[in-house]
Amino acid sequence: MRSARWWSREADGRILCTLCPRLCRIGEGQAGFCFIRQVKDGELVTLGYGRTTGFAVDPVEKKPLNHFLPGTSTLSFGTAGCNLGCRFCQNWDISKAKIDDARSAIAMPEDVVELAVNQQCPSMSYTYNDPVIWAEYVIDLARAAKARGLASIAVTAGYVTAEARGELFADIAATNVDLKAFTEGFYSKVTLAHLEPVLDTLIWLRRSTRVWLEITNLVIPGLNDDEGETRALARWVNAELGPDVPVHFTAFHPDYKLTDRPRTPPETLSRARRIAIEEGLHYVYTGNVHDRAGGTTFCPRCKEALVARDWFDILDYRLDRGACGKCGMPIAGVWPDEPVRPRRARRRSLGLAP
Ligand code: SF4
Repeated sequence: MRSARWWSREADGRILCTLCPRLCRIGEGQAGFCFIRQVKDGELVTLGYGRTTGFAVDPVEKKPLNHFLPGTSTLSFGTAGCNLGCRFCQNWDISKAKIDDARSAIAMPEDVVELAVNQQCPSMSYTYNDPVIWAEYVIDLARAAKARGLASIAVTAGYVTAEARGELFADIAATNVDLKAFTEGFYSKVTLAHLEPVLDTLIWLRRSTRVWLEITNLVIPGLNDDEGETRALARWVNAELGPDVPVHFTAFHPDYKLTDRPRTPPETLSRARRIAIEEGLHYVYTGNVHDRAGGTTFCPRCKEALVARDWFDILDYRLDRGACGKCGMPIAGVWPDEPVRPRRARRRSLGLAP
């Protein structure tokens, strides 16, 4: 248990947490919506610091990031709890768990960095549950990683206040932000959060930081798969963030409290991708399906296939130091100097190490 940041005391004695836009008012002995921030002896504490629910070595493409150190592995882990209440949560066993209920191990930042180095991972990913709610731990992890030359990746819903986001992302190299829908109705009913703060985070990331940004939109049949909504989302991304921010339209599978919907048909994802390309986005992907075209990075100018993928596997790589190998157009992203060899992606669970 550690002292938490970003809070103040209300006139009635309750603590106001200002880490995320939920702005929980928390009484003595109680926890906020995310479970892992509690009031003890009149102070806000975090139960998430140094408590992980397990480590895995994932392909970076699984985050998903297609334009950041492709073909590399990333040490991936999370804690318990979440600050959103998504009815379709695909990691609900940890996001809905209290830290005492979740299997967890103590892992200080330096130990985690050592593990990443030993596993030959050039990056660490804060993922599985939302790293916003364990911001104090993320900040120390990212600083320790940077000191050893490792990159940090945040996989997040972007539901964080302007007050906290600067420090949270200070040493983060790349992020995938889950833009869950493009309507307030979906956000308020299905995620128990709001759209506007997420859009605000996206604009801030793109315009005020050097963090590499990609966006995921999980497409759920009947809830956020309307053509007009997809077009509005893509148009907004192009206008506010620019055409070079990659967007991943990924397939939903029934889970947690949303089991009355079918899996997303591949055609729906292909349609979303087509719409986003029509709206001018340069790099649009489908995810959680086998779709060679939808997984491939094409040159926006000459249309050459530059990085061919199937799911998380890299099949072919034709970038030359970050530029199109055919016409020379620079491709947005963080690319290695050396060509990436085709590789089959593997995921390895490390359990509760270190
Ligand atoms: S971080 Fe947790 S406690 Fe703080 S406002 Fe958000 S949900 Fe509430």
